[in-house]
Parts: sequence; C-alpha cells; structure tokens
Amino acid sequence: MRIFESTRDKKCQASASLAILNGLAEDGGLYMLRDLSELKIDLNSILDLDYYQLAELILGKLLDDYTAEEIHHCVHAAYEGKFSADDITPLVKVGDVHLLELFHGPTSAFKDVALSILPHLVTTALEKHGVDDEIIILTATSGDTGKAALAGFKDVKNTKIMVFYPEEGVSAVQKRQMETQTGNNVCVASIKGNFDDAQSSVKQIFTNHELAARMKQNHQQFSSANSINVGRLMPQVVYYFKAYADLVKRGEIKLYEAVNFAVPTGNFGNILAGYLAKQMGLPVAKFICASNENNILTDFMNTGIYDRNRAFKKTLSPSMDILISSNLERYLYMLCGYDNEQVRLWMNELQEKGSYSIGKELLEKLQSEFWADCADNAKTKEIIKQCYEANHYVLDTHTAVAYAAAMKFANQQINNQKTVVLSTASPYKFVGSVYEALTGKQEADEFSLMQKLADLCGVAIPLNLAKLNELPIRHENHLAKEAIQSFVEKKLGEKQW
Ligand SMILES: *Cc1c(COP(=O)(O)O)cnc(C)c1O
Repeated sequence: MRIFESTRDKKCQASASLAILNGLAEDGGLYMLRDLSELKIDLNSILDLDYYQLAELILGKLLDDYTAEEIHHCVHAAYEGKFSADDITPLVKVGDVHLLELFHGPTSAFKDVALSILPHLVTTALEKHGVDDEIIILTATSGDTGKAALAGFKDVKNTKIMVFYPEEGVSAVQKRQMETQTGNNVCVASIKGNFDDAQSSVKQIFTNHELAARMKQNHQQFSSANSINVGRLMPQVVYYFKAYADLVKRGEIKLYEAVNFAVPTGNFGNILAGYLAKQMGLPVAKFICASNENNILTDFMNTGIYDRNRAFKKTLSPSMDILISSNLERYLYMLCGYDNEQVRLWMNELQEKGSYSIGKELLEKLQSEFWADCADNAKTKEIIKQCYEANHYVLDTHTAVAYAAAMKFANQQINNQKTVVLSTASPYKFVGSVYEALTGKQEADEFSLMQKLADLCGVAIPLNLAKLNELPIRHENHLAKEAIQSFVEKKLGEKQW
C-alpha cells in the first residue's frame, strides 16, 4: 500500500483513504506521495479507454488502498448521467490551440470533475474504516469550489458541508448559485474579507487540536473539499491523460510526442494535477502557468522569490484571485527532492515574513518545466473578443487568461509543441464580464444577460444556470472573518442545517 506523508513532516503519514478523510495533515502540511515513478501509465494502452476506464486506471494507482470495486463504484456514481458531455471533458480545436472543456458538470465549473467524485471517496473511506463519525466539510471558496462542493455533498449520508465565500469576491451568478443551494446538510456564509482570509481561517480551524478533541467526543470530524485534499486533487490527473489520448487519436500528435498545457491558475491545484500526470509518464514539454493581476506565481517563476507582501486585487477572473497558492507547497516538496524539513522552513518564512526564496538552482529546475505569464483585465477582455472574432468561440474570463498566455508563448516561440489550454468555466458563469468584452456594453443584471449572450453567440445556456434567478434564496449568513470559528462551533451543535 502506498503511503501519503505530510509535505512538512515525513512521520505524519496516512493511507489514501485516511488522507482523504483527514483533508489536511495534522501538522498543517499537505499529504503527498513520496515517489510517483512506480505509477507509470502505458500510453499505448490508454488510447481505447473511455473516461470511466481511464479514471479507474489512474485513481486505482494513486488511491491504492481503495479496492478496484470501490473505485469503480465511485467513478460511475460520480460521472454517469451527471455531465452534459458523454466523454466528460471534451477537447475542441480553437484556432491554433486545443481547449480542454472541463465545465460540463452540474455547476458549470471545472471543479465539478473532482467534486463529483470526492463525496463518494469520502463515504467509501468511512465504510472501509468503520468510522461512525460525521464528516464536516469546511470549505473556503473563491466562488466555484463552493457551489461544486455543495452540489457534490448535498444530502450525502454522514456528511455536512459548510462553505465560506468572500462577500465582494464572486460573480453575481456564483453568489446566487450558492445562496440557493438546497439540502439538509448544507450551510453557506459570506465573509467580509477576501479569499485568502477565508482560506486562512479555515486552515486555522482545521489545525485547532482542542476543537478536534471536543468534536471527536461528539463523533464528528472535519475534512476539506479544497484542493488541499488529495481526493480533490487526484481526480484532476485523469483529464490530462484523456486530452493527450484524444490528440493522438485525432492524428494531431504522434504517440509520445510532448505537448504543452496552459492552465489558468489560482490555488495551483489544477496545474499540479498536470504535473503529477507528467510524473506518471505523460509527455509534457512545458506547463504554462497563467495568472491574472494577482500575479504572484508569475513573479515567483521568474525570480524564485514568493512574496505575498502585495495588494490583493479583485479581477474579472475571481476564482483566481489568490495570493497564497496552497498546492504550490506540494510542488516545492517534489522540486526539492522530498525534503520535508526544507518545505517546513519555507512555509514558516511565508507565515512569518510573507516571503521565501528557493535559490538559483531550484529556480532553474522549475523553469525547465514551467513558464509563467499574467494577463490584466484589459488583456483578458481583449482576448475574449479576439478569440470570438477569429474563431466564433466564447471564452470565459479565466480561460481567457490562459489563452492569452498560450498565445504569448507561441509568439515567443518558446517551443513548437502543440498546446492544450484548460478551459475551466462556462462563459455564462461570468456573463457580465464576458458580455462586456464582446460588446463593450455593461449591464447590471447578469441573469437577463445570459439570454442576450445566448442570442449573440448561439451557445445554449447550461441548464443549471438557466433558471437560477427563479430559485428561492436559502442562505443569508454574513460574517466578519473573526467570527468564522464561533459560527462553526455553533453550527456543530445543530443536528440539521
Ligand atoms: C478554481 C478555478 C481556477 C483555478 O484553479 P486552481 O486549481 O485553484 O489553480 C481557474 N478557473 C476557474 C474557473 C476556477 O474555478
């Protein structure tokens, strides 16, 4: 059985299913596998697999204390009949690049791919271990994780889910998606503060040992639906292989030819999943790490210095408005050769002075695998318009940031490999910004704009969004960030939410 260990302490260990139940390692580090080299996927053998078979193969290797039957059950329960595309994550050619559309799930965001399966991995783990604790999922969200997690965990036995989002930091559609969530085990609250405030508060609650001990007595324990949870991260590895197989089957590339992946990045989960795919044998030339005006990762990849001492900006791609990219910690752990001690030092520095530096040697290693760029709001809008005019394809604001980076990468001829751009949301989720980019017109009511955008571009509104403004609002909690913990404790005492 493969053992996950904390990025900060190798003595802090768990099997895959326990890592999923725990969410965060107890020392505050992230669970990770030490070595993925034994997990190589034979590329030739995946060409004929459908999404389900591919997911079973890959998750079977990564989460190997689940039986094949358990993984089979989780994969089918997650995806069958839940996505509007038969192949779950379709690849479409747009101009010179290929867009990997990850937004055909129940909430029209890429996070559905992982959050559709996570609840099944959690409940299966509870059964496996005979744990009769109730799992309380605590989630900080910049918008998309929240709704996708609520939809995934809604009415799932022995679980409850609580979501915190920044009041001013999400689109009107995202906000409404969360406020209208049904289910007797769900709770949603907005907070005064930004995503980093929400994420830090949640992490603090996770590592509060005194609270954990009290909960244990009441047969409750926390877990996470953020990409700090390996059950959230690993399902994202699958679609990188799927995209590659599609390129080969369509004759776009030869088997074993390397490709680039351009990823709109916030918490570094999506791009890290790609990096794991590479460790498992996927031929990747470069990962193009694309940021919005919160371009801390662009700076980091160019200088080797991660410095969060800067202003947090609200942008048109709110799901990427993040200054502390949690999953970068997992990459650092791999980059420095699984040196937990080193990772702990960097994370302490980040905590204490807001920055750390990885040095020249590691920076060079990083730059051999990653290339980073950022796009501001003006550039994002310009790209949406350009891409529509050239290809009659509407990008959402997040995907546009990655598309812009991919264009620049091609122009600068960093390499000549084919590029796949990960498309992370339906343009209808960010319809106000997208409509403005296309027409120059600003309108306040995002809900009537959806129909206008549909009329303009001829792409159907996803069903889950079409009737959103008619649904009753069920959640109206607004909190100061200092009040999160006491709110959580109060809710823990309530039988039904
Ligand atoms: C979450 C999200 C991202 C960023 O993904 P990370 O895994 O956090 O880097 C990009 N685009 C959209 C639409 C998202 O919801």
